Amino acid sequence: MSNRFRLREALSQFPPYVPGKPPVQAPGLTPFKLSSNENHLPPLPGVLDAVTDGGQIPANYPDPKSTKLVADLADHLGVEPAEVVPGAGASEVLSALTNITLEAGTSVVYPWPSFEMYPILAVARGAEKRAVPTLPDGRHDFQGLLSEIDQTTRLVLLCSPNNPTGPAITSEELDGFLAEVPADVIVALDEAYFEFATGAEAVDGLAAYRKHPNLVLVRTFSKAHGLAGLRVGYGVADETIATALRQVIAPFSVTAVAQAAAAESLGRVGEVLVRAKQVAADRDRFAADLRELGFDVPDSEGNYVWVALDPEEAVAFEGACAEVAVAIRRLTGGVRISIGPDEALDRVRTVAATFAAERRDRSAQA
Ligand code: PMP
Repeated sequence: MSNRFRLREALSQFPPYVPGKPPVQAPGLTPFKLSSNENHLPPLPGVLDAVTDGGQIPANYPDPKSTKLVADLADHLGVEPAEVVPGAGASEVLSALTNITLEAGTSVVYPWPSFEMYPILAVARGAEKRAVPTLPDGRHDFQGLLSEIDQTTRLVLLCSPNNPTGPAITSEELDGFLAEVPADVIVALDEAYFEFATGAEAVDGLAAYRKHPNLVLVRTFSKAHGLAGLRVGYGVADETIATALRQVIAPFSVTAVAQAAAAESLGRVGEVLVRAKQVAADRDRFAADLRELGFDVPDSEGNYVWVALDPEEAVAFEGACAEVAVAIRRLTGGVRISIGPDEALDRVRTVAATFAAERRDRSAQA
């Protein structure tokens, strides 16, 4: 660390957050970005009007309490407004959760691979990070997570559906887990992608929340609602926790435009869910096609699929997709491909077919 300024030593330990790459241009091909789990469908009618209306007086600060959005969410979820905490994306709510729990001498337990911000936030707060490898099928290892919880643990992060591996947590798994976790340890359930889940057993965070006051739900308008660019998400938490979260979230962090668009989209949640199910159907077809070609693809309940590959294969697969102007996400252990338009997925299917044929040739020669 440079000694020019009095910066924190810990900064040198921050794992980097690597954002999804933009697509490489290729002559004659429309570029597609399948590297950030964005929603590829156009905005719902009404949402763009809300954006325009919400941005009418840019000189004024937004409503610091997001009053309408909070009231609408509380109504929609059947909770009290005091239990709803909006933030600039689920990212801000997650950051606030780590801010109200973690400090030097404490620990945070989470599955890995999972959302890249978890270890960054842990290190940022000076806490010990305890990453528990997911099972070979990409599911959370709940026994493993439990065995990492001790007196120092203030926070457990769960992700359902898990980004990047795909599976959702089941209600049975979550209930069993929460029955074993000390009641004063906060367990955050990151449900950034829950609207895309179609499996009958996928956990209903809200039902679990009603039974377990130490469970905090973290949700976002970025994915199924397609508002990632506006930065709005929310937490649902016991009032004591919610009050603490509000203490650390920056005032005015949810812009007037974001509040208006989120409220409008929530008002059209039926349409949002229909579209999420369309994405889920494309996902299931895409995953089945990749499996047919011999790839190891865990069940996904999000708007993406995970393809387990060894490091060399992952580099080659990402490169072959880039050559056809499709950006995908390479992470440790494989690649994650967001569900995009048919044209983009078809290009990845072609890459995968070529790849599978080459794999077969190699193993025939071996
Ligand atoms: N949680 C998970 C699992 C995610 O994948 C993401 C975004 N990729 C987020 C939270 C944060 O989303 P946002 O801040 O856009 O709401």
